Amino acid sequence: MKTSNGIKKFALKQGINFLYRNPEKNLLKMMDLADKFAGDQFPSQRKVMREAMSDPEHPYYGYIRRLFHEIDPHVMKTTAINFFLNASLIGWSKQEETRQKYGCNVPWAILLDPTSACNLHCTGCWAAEYGNKLNLTFEEIDGIIEQGKAMGIYMYIYTGGEPLVRKKDIIRLCEKHSDCIFLCFTNGTLIDEEFADEMLRVGNFVPAISLEGFEEATDGRRGNGVYAKATKAMELLRKKKLFYGISACYTSANFESITSEEFFNKLIEMGAYFIWYFHYMPVGNDASPELLPTPEQRKETYRRIREYRSTKPLFAMDFQNDAEYVGGCIAGGRRYLHINANGDVDPCVFIHYSDSNIREKTLLEALRSPMMMAYHDNQPFNKNMFQPCPMLENPDKLRKMVAGTDAHSTDLQSPETADHLCAKCDKYAEHWAPVAEELWKESQERKAKKKA
Ligand code: SF4
Repeated sequence: MKTSNGIKKFALKQGINFLYRNPEKNLLKMMDLADKFAGDQFPSQRKVMREAMSDPEHPYYGYIRRLFHEIDPHVMKTTAINFFLNASLIGWSKQEETRQKYGCNVPWAILLDPTSACNLHCTGCWAAEYGNKLNLTFEEIDGIIEQGKAMGIYMYIYTGGEPLVRKKDIIRLCEKHSDCIFLCFTNGTLIDEEFADEMLRVGNFVPAISLEGFEEATDGRRGNGVYAKATKAMELLRKKKLFYGISACYTSANFESITSEEFFNKLIEMGAYFIWYFHYMPVGNDASPELLPTPEQRKETYRRIREYRSTKPLFAMDFQNDAEYVGGCIAGGRRYLHINANGDVDPCVFIHYSDSNIREKTLLEALRSPMMMAYHDNQPFNKNMFQPCPMLENPDKLRKMVAGTDAHSTDLQSPETADHLCAKCDKYAEHWAPVAEELWKESQERKAKKKA
């Protein structure tokens, strides 16, 4: 018998209230309830959660308890309902219906740039030079979310520019779409007491503060005093009992410190709940390919992050090396897409080639456009999940997709040809391939052992 969404929501709310009465005692009872309603969805994730809840030696045993004691209950409840129920359990079935009906990708999340404006002037970032010329209006963002929700998309992720230049609109959108969850990549410098109080009030806004490492590395790229402001924001978020994380881009220059145990421990000490690591991408005519990590650096990053993930209470994601958990590249609407401040619908936040603009097409039309369908028809781009990307590890795939469609560069400052971009990845792909093969073999062997 199918359980209606209303009943699921009611049951989850009751379950969370029950949990708050005595988290220690009721966590596992709550997990039983989740199993009952999830049916056959997310079995491995639920198994891991159960272990983390019951084993005091598990690194997440304390982390889970922190969620109940150190996060504001309204924020915790709203985040849990919007993320687990709306964006995952309920949203997924709606997305699947649309996928089947139209034979195209339908994402789980939409990344969007509310503005190209930024209050900082980071080295190598176009936003500062481009200024505040480009913005998605409140009505446009609202329209994207309305269209998204009709397809089961309840997860929205702001990038930029600096999204918090548009604080007021962002809070209005959180209020208007109180059933969605909003994640925001931000430099953190505009988070103040007043905004933190607004976050507490709406309960569905989660910042991911960008750091380049410790003070020297962060200020070196982002400007003097930025690290101090970002860490002040982190302290404020902790004090206000808000849920927040970190985003970190590793390059050949900063990989050693940004993936160090010292840095990781510092973030735990400061109360961060997650960190999202990104591999440097040589995107843009002015990009510096020498910042691409070497195969050895990438392999070491992969090992460190996996090690931390299984031993430390800070949830770490590794965007480029975690593809095996999600079946390869997630862009092109398979799990997400990106809409820039000009309305261009890019397949990925790093792949700025598009044949659709949200001011001219509906979201569904954009998902059925030749460029998005090229993603749909060619995913996964490689059988080896350590080579997921049509640009970084399989540059010929991106060359072909762009050549085979009317997709044009959507770079806001200096349009770059796909050939120019992909030429920066050819050598990288060649050098990474044998290491990827070794890692893939290891991973397959591990899986086979687990099954045996
Ligand atoms: S296009 Fe590349 S960077 Fe973007 S999601 Fe796919 S694999 Fe990752």
